[in-house]
Amino acid sequence: MINLLKQLEEILSENNSTDLLLQKSDKILAEILSSPHLELFFYDEINNNLKTFKGFESSLLIKDSPDYKVFLKIKRNHFVLNNEMYEFSEKETNLKQAPQKNILYIPLTENGLVFGLMKITTNSEITTKILNTLIIASSMFSARIISCSLNEKMEMNINFYQSMKNIAKVIENQYEPDYIMPIIGEILDKFVPEHLIYIFKKEEHDLHLIWPRAYTNTRLEKLKSYMENCQKVTLINEDMTGIFPLIIDKHIIGYIIADSNYFKISNTLKNYLEQLSYQTSVTMDKADVYSEILKNATIDSLTGLYNRGQLDKRIKQEIATSKRTNSTLCCLMTDIDFFKKINDTHGHAVGDFALKEIADIVTKQIRENDIAARYGGEEFVILLPFTHIDEAKKVGERIRKKIENKKFKTGSLELHITVSMGLSIFEPDKDNLNFQEEADKALYEAKNNGRNQLVIFENKT
Ligand code: GH3
Ligand code: MG
Ligand code: MG
Repeated sequence: MINLLKQLEEILSENNSTDLLLQKSDKILAEILSSPHLELFFYDEINNNLKTFKGFESSLLIKDSPDYKVFLKIKRNHFVLNNEMYEFSEKETNLKQAPQKNILYIPLTENGLVFGLMKITTNSEITTKILNTLIIASSMFSARIISCSLNEKMEMNINFYQSMKNIAKVIENQYEPDYIMPIIGEILDKFVPEHLIYIFKKEEHDLHLIWPRAYTNTRLEKLKSYMENCQKVTLINEDMTGIFPLIIDKHIIGYIIADSNYFKISNTLKNYLEQLSYQTSVTMDKADVYSEILKNATIDSLTGLYNRGQLDKRIKQEIATSKRTNSTLCCLMTDIDFFKKINDTHGHAVGDFALKEIADIVTKQIRENDIAARYGGEEFVILLPFTHIDEAKKVGERIRKKIENKKFKTGSLELHITVSMGLSIFEPDKDNLNFQEEADKALYEAKNNGRNQLVIFENKT
């Protein structure tokens, strides 16, 4: 028996997953019991229910399950064998044994309070000796669960600060509100695995769902009706759904909602989410200010290419040069194919990684005089001064092929990405100042023709 307890102690001190821990325990218990099966439950105060102890996938028990009923009755000096309650001091002879399968419950305690159950199912008889060993084992499992739940709390705290930081950091690379909100949605989703996160944007009197990206659900209508006239943090649906308004300058610009039909929002979680919503509002506000400032900056911080404002300036300069020197100027408009899907499947971080890599390819393939800019989210413009259309086409094709053949590797992922391109030329004698639009039209055609190709603008009039 001592040996068995030693073995248990050993596996409890290892850093095993809960599943593995239970499996290993079953094996060890098999030394004294025939086909034993161990289950652990602990009390979830917030939901006033028992949870199975399965690490991250903890699930609530239904209220009239036998396990829950035992938990309600059991005291710290009790155990339950086959539905009969006994005190620890009782003698072996009194135990009602089942001929086939014995079900034994021993309380898990901390400071004299019962916080959970250890349940063992076995085909063998439970002797006093076995019982005493299992009682000692139960105190070992109690300690393990307590330390796990402390860890979980600590982890939540760390995740909270990480999320706060990440939300604040969003604007380092992005300041388009429509794109920031989904990134924040991703961050919040990771933070509260047990609740579904929705983000709504308020426009005039309408509420638009912006996270999750694709969702059709009658639940949405219900949530919308809750949000109407909701001015401050509110818990509804028996505290299982929380509404957190996003407020800038005393105006509500949207709502973050954490929704569940099973799990209550604890006070701690409510406080965390309240602060995260506040951070989101601040970030949205800053993004506005930032976008103003960045209009005056020249470099796009994610890709290192020129930004849109700088591109507009450079186009003007290059047109002037082109006119003065009577030379042609080409414009290559590039858009990544099905980029949304990359974001939606792998997350925005992977999308950002791809953007950087593609910007690197573009930079490597052009001459020093050429000008590459990030025009929009995943659109690039390349200006090629003193260049004829055939040369520009070669450059464009080279870039397109490089991207097509590149394996974009990040972590264990390997992505294949293609781009579509539209090419146009500014000719001083034609003075077609709308040549950028022409490149855009050609790009549109490239998309329509099936993507992953370069199309040269042709004047069809
Ligand atoms: P296609 O161009 O082939 O028609 O399809 P698409 O999916 O690429 O469509 P579109 O060009 O309209 O997609 C733009 C998407 O690019 C929307 C958004 O998810 C993504 N995006 C925009 N800016 C960023 C950014 O800074 N980072 C990341 N990761 N994604 C961005
Ligand atoms: Mg696009
Ligand atoms: Mg695209």
